[in-house]
Amino acid sequence: MRLTRFTDLALRVLMRLAVADADLPTTRDVAATMEVPYTHSAKVVARLRHLGLIEARRGRGGGLALTAAGRAASVGGVVRELEGAGDVVDCDGAVPCPLRGACVLRGALRGAQEAFFAALDPLTVNDLVAAPTGPLLLGISSGPPGRTVDP
Ligand code: SF4
Repeated sequence: MRLTRFTDLALRVLMRLAVADADLPTTRDVAATMEVPYTHSAKVVARLRHLGLIEARRGRGGGLALTAAGRAASVGGVVRELEGAGDVVDCDGAVPCPLRGACVLRGALRGAQEAFFAALDPLTVNDLVAAPTGPLLLGISSGPPGRTVDP
């Protein structure tokens, strides 16, 4: 199974915020750290805010922060939410597969998809920034110079 770029970026944003100190990063900082366009980062940030996993803090030193729920969130849960409930294979697409009414493979693929999510369930966002990932993230994160507060 392959994650969408959106889901992958969302997990990267969550990891970046999981190592943030009092100097909170902005959406632009996160985009720079992850080397992705600002517009992509902004869409992901909006979705994660909507899910209550991150929040924007205004004012001096403001920026993006992980919520308590975001830090404790199950990685499997986040991936399920962002990937949706679609099948791995598009059996009912523009040219529907003639086997779709009685396909053993379809059921097996659904089981495999659920096993994929289940393998990620025990992991929390906080677990993802254990060493060596957390220290690496801190090392590559962009600093305060030139930052603009546009959480
Ligand atoms: S063979 Fe089965 S899994 Fe593959 S497209 Fe057809 S119905 Fe779907």
